[in-house]
Amino acid sequence: MANSPLKLDHHTHNGSNPAVPSLIETITKELYEGVLVLNGNLEIVFANRTAELMLNQPTQALLHTPLNQIFPDDQIKLLFRSREQSHRFHTEIKPSDTSPIPACVTLTTLPFTVEGLTVVSIVALPKASQWVDKIIHNERLAGLGTMGASIAHELTNPISVIGTTTSNLLEMVDGNYLNGETLKRYLRMIDTNVGRCNQLIDTLRAYTYGETLREPTSVNELIEHAVTLLDAQLVKRDNLRLNFELNPELPKVTCDPGQITQVLINLMLNARDALLPSGGEILLKTWPIPELDSVAVSVQDSGDGLPPEEKIPQLFEPFFTTKSRGRGTGLGLFIASEIVKQHNGWIRAQNRSDPSISGAQFTVMLPV
Ligand code: ADP
Repeated sequence: MANSPLKLDHHTHNGSNPAVPSLIETITKELYEGVLVLNGNLEIVFANRTAELMLNQPTQALLHTPLNQIFPDDQIKLLFRSREQSHRFHTEIKPSDTSPIPACVTLTTLPFTVEGLTVVSIVALPKASQWVDKIIHNERLAGLGTMGASIAHELTNPISVIGTTTSNLLEMVDGNYLNGETLKRYLRMIDTNVGRCNQLIDTLRAYTYGETLREPTSVNELIEHAVTLLDAQLVKRDNLRLNFELNPELPKVTCDPGQITQVLINLMLNARDALLPSGGEILLKTWPIPELDSVAVSVQDSGDGLPPEEKIPQLFEPFFTTKSRGRGTGLGLFIASEIVKQHNGWIRAQNRSDPSISGAQFTVMLPV
């Protein structure tokens, strides 16, 4: 411990030594993030210059400021105490003399120090709503990358039917054996398949549309859109079964069709991740809730189910993931819940209630 590169241990014993080790001061001085270091009693023992500016207090004052004055959210204390090695979450910080501002906070517990020092890095997000909107749109566009193969596959089928039909027609014209009935039948095939291509392009256009919309929409149709975009991946490549229980009497909801499709896609991709590699079923279900003037849609899978109950609220936090690096970003459920919130709805995660089938169930409720 005496060789700790940060040599913070001796400062933490008196808890308020303002003399900061020059190494950590130099490293963190020019950082864009605010950096605080806490000792094992969760007292601040170091603050960099950016943290001073963000929190509107000099280091000397910060060393004596209780943590809950800086992070007003009560839940945060639990995370600080959990002493997991690394955590990232979305919360608020409270600069002195001004109202709280949203921030993205990362906690890292340093295992090589006697007292278990925690480094807190803070990125202030002054325009949170713009930030969230940007993330929602960026992730939607990034998702198109992963759906590229699916979309190409969906286009290949009708285009190859159009190609084959056209060359058959040409052959018949050349051989002089094309009659009116056959011509009509072939033209109808071409027309249907051009229609399929147009439908897919419309689905894509609606999905990528950047402006927020509010229009009366059939949630059953949005499920169809999401399935069109994912079918080749989930069914043809990953061999999963897609089942549907869609209520035909569902009233329309006023929503942004692209954003709600994005929610469904995020939930379906999570269901896929829960099912691979062994496979299984994804069930998409809709039903009306007349007494609440709402519509419910659920995505259920037959995977291993959700993490323990106390972790469920965390699933919706930005950057929370249990997937390996490169597979999970921890943004899917955060985005889904932000979109649903913007539609005055709610989203719920639970395990399936049917005892004969394991697996998770995500239910979204949208007001009509
Ligand atoms: P990511 O998928 O990138 O991990 P999400 O925000 O979409 O991010 O999901 C957060 C976490 O929620 C996942 O890492 C996983 O632990 C849990 N989760 C989401 N969907 C399911 C599901 N269908 N079954 C089990 N766990 C799930």
